[in-house]
Amino acid sequence: MSQEPVCATAKRRARRVVTRFLPTALVLTYHRVASPDLDPQLMCVSPAHFASHLRLLCQVGECVSLRDLVRWSAVGRVPRRAIVVTFDDGYADNLDVAEPLLRDVGVPATVFVASGGLDVGRPFWWDELEALLLRTVEVPPEVTLTARGRRFAWPLDAADSSSAAAAGPEDARRDVARFEVPSPRQAAFRDIASLCRALAPDERDAALRSLAAQLGEAPTVHGHRRLSPAGVAELAASAVVEVGAHGVSHTPLNVLSREGRAEEFIQSKHTLEQMTGCSVDLLSYPFGAADVLTSDCGRVARDCGYMAACANWPGLVWLRSDPYRLPRFRVRDWDAEEFASTLEAWFKGVD
Ligand SMILES: [Zn+2]
Repeated sequence: MSQEPVCATAKRRARRVVTRFLPTALVLTYHRVASPDLDPQLMCVSPAHFASHLRLLCQVGECVSLRDLVRWSAVGRVPRRAIVVTFDDGYADNLDVAEPLLRDVGVPATVFVASGGLDVGRPFWWDELEALLLRTVEVPPEVTLTARGRRFAWPLDAADSSSAAAAGPEDARRDVARFEVPSPRQAAFRDIASLCRALAPDERDAALRSLAAQLGEAPTVHGHRRLSPAGVAELAASAVVEVGAHGVSHTPLNVLSREGRAEEFIQSKHTLEQMTGCSVDLLSYPFGAADVLTSDCGRVARDCGYMAACANWPGLVWLRSDPYRLPRFRVRDWDAEEFASTLEAWFKGVD
């Protein structure tokens, strides 16, 4: 018998003991509260669903702030069935749509904002890519990119159904990453997004410029508005929201040098503190999955003045959780019934 099943069984048993006898908390990750015509990465929860999520959270657990959870966890007092709401990236709908709904029910939340480009209103690179590949009406037969010394090419079919103009609502909301048979444009979007994720910020910008040159002038990135500096300040002044940092350029930590990681952590903290007039000491790692976090990320975050940092893999927070690698569950656009059953599974330690 291989060792892995034994380890997996032991881990499952340990998790059952933890979830049954010890207080545990859920940290939830949202990105956007909106219903745009395209959502290829399933980042959006509709306003109606978000409102129903909040009502449900108040019924099934105790909604607490991330700051309180970290403080209580450090002294061994995690409330039973505590729930923390967080948002990543810093879209304008977090202020315009989510904040009033949070305030209505008194649920605290932390919004982690990527600080780069806020002052000039530059969209996130994946939204620029979406505009180029999924919204451009007339496309050439193929697009090419040269990155890291390799040349890549993707055929595009101008007649396929994945442009915003042609896609129906069901198609538009499908997750590009999960397409079994993606259209040429969807395959190109998925592959190039994955490629861009592994590039340093300047290489990524060069790749986007090259694509824009091949596809003609990119259509406006509408419906994906980021927070303005004034919006960040307004959010930070909310009675229920705290602003945290999410790096500068939204680059995975393993793509940056140690100095580059520290620079992003320090600069984003400084920029957001200038914008808000508040201390910013909570962090969420960009992308934050296990394959992009570096072994030193917690140490670097602590040295840069953060009290805690969120990762992006599922798991419960309990007394022994590392405050610099807090697991989170990602929430999708579920209705109340599906969200309720998913929450119960998460509280039982089922990912
Ligand atoms: Zn992010």
